[in-house]
Amino acid sequence: MSTPKRVAVIGAGGSMGSQTMWRLAARGAEVVGYDRYAPGHDRGAAGGESRIFRSGNLWDAAYLPLLRLADRMWEQLQQETGRVLRTRNGCLVMGETASPSMQVLLSSITDHGLKDNELLDRAELARRYPQHVLPEGHTAVLDRAGGTIRPEASVQAAAERAGQLGARLHRYTTVREVTPRPGGGVDIVTDHGTDHVDTAVVTAGPWINTLLPDLSREVQIHRVISSWHIPTTHDWFAGGAPAFVRSAPHACYGLPSPDGVSVKIGLSRAHYAQVPDPERLDRTVDPSELGLFREFIREFMPDLNPDPIRLSVYMEGYTESGNPLVGHLPGQDDLIVMAGFSGGGFKFSPAMGEIAADLALDGTTEHPIDFLAPTTLGAV
Ligand SMILES: Cc1cc2nc3c(=O)[nH]c(=O)nc-3n(C[C@H](O)[C@H](O)[C@H](O)COP(=O)(O)OP(=O)(O)OC[C@H]3O[C@@H](n4cnc5c(N)ncnc54)[C@H](O)[C@@H]3O)c2cc1C
Repeated sequence: MSTPKRVAVIGAGGSMGSQTMWRLAARGAEVVGYDRYAPGHDRGAAGGESRIFRSGNLWDAAYLPLLRLADRMWEQLQQETGRVLRTRNGCLVMGETASPSMQVLLSSITDHGLKDNELLDRAELARRYPQHVLPEGHTAVLDRAGGTIRPEASVQAAAERAGQLGARLHRYTTVREVTPRPGGGVDIVTDHGTDHVDTAVVTAGPWINTLLPDLSREVQIHRVISSWHIPTTHDWFAGGAPAFVRSAPHACYGLPSPDGVSVKIGLSRAHYAQVPDPERLDRTVDPSELGLFREFIREFMPDLNPDPIRLSVYMEGYTESGNPLVGHLPGQDDLIVMAGFSGGGFKFSPAMGEIAADLALDGTTEHPIDFLAPTTLGAV
């Protein structure tokens, strides 16, 4: 019997890292995970109680096979752990019909047979979802295969499952350096010493630039506010009330909270400042930062009380193209990076775990990720 490959996962307490540990351990690797915090923490990109899942995409139809893979992997994780991590309460996608993003979605529905996506005209939307205002010239699509994922529970479930399958996780352990050895393998340096592994997968999320400062394709880290609002008249929670997304130029999204009390609202990155140092994130929200939340509520969901009952601050990483970086670093067969997952990456996380396991164990993957390759990265 051959010795199992030893693989380090850096960021194993986060969205992509926990799923990567699960998939690697399931496939027989000896997995060593590291995280500066612990699974389910709220310091990075995975906090805030809910994430939207959708079967369609507003960005690029190239993501559709990855969404299908993610869909299967979410089911598998739920089955293996016996946990409810995702609810198919649907997702309403609304936007100016002629906008590029709505056009990507509308043509995907026809070209790729997204049968779970139902077009609603203004009258039908007003009848079924009176809490949402749809201006003239806008279209609504109900994605019945969409819904809500519980991020903290998912990260913990994936990490626990990985542990059952033999993975070891070093909690509260910051990796200081990841150094490929000339002869093969990678050194992982922490404050407790240096470990040697065959392959390393770096999923450091908002800290990617701290750990790999020489990435030549920059990942910009943005400060993201989530704001929770109480409905006044309509029932936002009955009958599996859907999450919702509005495309540019009014890009925002929301989810009825699992506790049935409030609706969480978020804005797109265009509205957020960059974070120079993820360890010094300002978590206090100034009232002046709430203007756009009030404006979008007044215009599109006037049923919500504009005064938030809760505010939280997180971080998201963006590349210039908006696509994440997924693959081997150029010239480095033993070092894989997964970063820059933007404001829509969580839904893909178990698919990314599967792909990272392919890359780490087989050196390649059959899943279509060429468009995400970190080809223009500099050497580390
Ligand atoms: C408020 C908000 C709402 C969002 N809504 C959605 C949504 O509705 N749908 C959707 O699909 N996506 C959504 N996203 C995007 C999604 O959550 C992110 O794309 C995803 O969580 C990114 O995962 P990650 O693994 O890259 O980062 P993280 O989950 O932050 O994981 C990175 C991990 O690396 C660890 N780490 C960093 N540096 C080190 C180090 N040196 N040593 C050890 N450990 C280290 C960190 O502690 C952390 O645990 C949202 C994001 C935010 C912030």
